[in-house]
Amino acid sequence: KDARYERGLTEPCEMVDGEPVCLQVNAGLVAEGEQLDPAYVGGIGLYRSETLYMLQNHFPTEQTQERAYGRVLKALGSKPVTIRTLDIGGDKPLSYFPIREDNPFLGWRGIRLTLDHPELFLVQVKAMQRAAVETGNLRILLPMVSNLDEVEQARKLIEQARLELEEELECSLPQVQVGVMIEVPASIYLLPQLRRKVDFFSVGSNDLTQYLLAVDRNNAQVADRFSHYHPAVVQALAQTVALAGDSELSVCGEMAGEPEGALILMALGLRQLSMNRRSLGRIHHLVRHLSASRLEPLRGALLQAEDDTQVIGLARSWLDEHG
Ligand code: PEP
Ligand code: MG
Repeated sequence: KDARYERGLTEPCEMVDGEPVCLQVNAGLVAEGEQLDPAYVGGIGLYRSETLYMLQNHFPTEQTQERAYGRVLKALGSKPVTIRTLDIGGDKPLSYFPIREDNPFLGWRGIRLTLDHPELFLVQVKAMQRAAVETGNLRILLPMVSNLDEVEQARKLIEQARLELEEELECSLPQVQVGVMIEVPASIYLLPQLRRKVDFFSVGSNDLTQYLLAVDRNNAQVADRFSHYHPAVVQALAQTVALAGDSELSVCGEMAGEPEGALILMALGLRQLSMNRRSLGRIHHLVRHLSASRLEPLRGALLQAEDDTQVIGLARSWLDEHG
């Protein structure tokens, strides 16, 4: 956290011309949720549930999960908490569930894995919904979606868990909002169809960059080629904004927590960003010094850029001048 910016968090998060921006926080540990003051954040935009699974040496029971999710949901009061379903595989292994494959990032990851193990998925979405019975602020986010049928299957299991809970608790429960991560490039082109199936979208710019550029995000050999300021990423984000239409759209990748990244995202029209807690004050400060009308020319210039040096250069000089 940067102490210079923390005090500003008590001010409304809006641009100079009054345009509101919703800033949310990414978390993975119960304590991170409990340390938040819900008065000064727009909620948790991404709760990485795999952390809980990675800290144990066996799959956490429904009760263990319910307790963890319940504490986070409660800590946020009336603010929304977007819990992502288990996203293991790729760079996130579980010691008690070894996966061997040649190309883990193109393999059995996220929703692909959990839909092949519906028993794991059901326990998790039941724990989430049970934890939310009293709080009512849960939203469920699906990782690594690349096909419509994954969303249909996941929604069916979420609904099955809800009906089971209704029967057990002998009360009626509302359907929770379900969203999809936009992190596999294919999902951008499916946005018009996905919009009919889900309530919101959240861009995972880390994976989206990795898959657009075909650069392993954790491989030191090609680390300098991994950049969410690549012009193709900017174009993909602009298309995502256009194709998402009036559906709720946020960004929860690391890009949203960097001043240059957040600036670019706002220039492209995004008004909801989720980031590390330590970046919140700085980005909040940035929002309060922006005006929506002045961002329009920056958007035009960004869409013309030829490489990441130009993209980041445009953002930096804009920040030096206005931010
Ligand atoms: C992302 O891919 O941008 C993201 C937010 O998810 P994770 O970093 O957990 O894969
Ligand atoms: Mg991801």
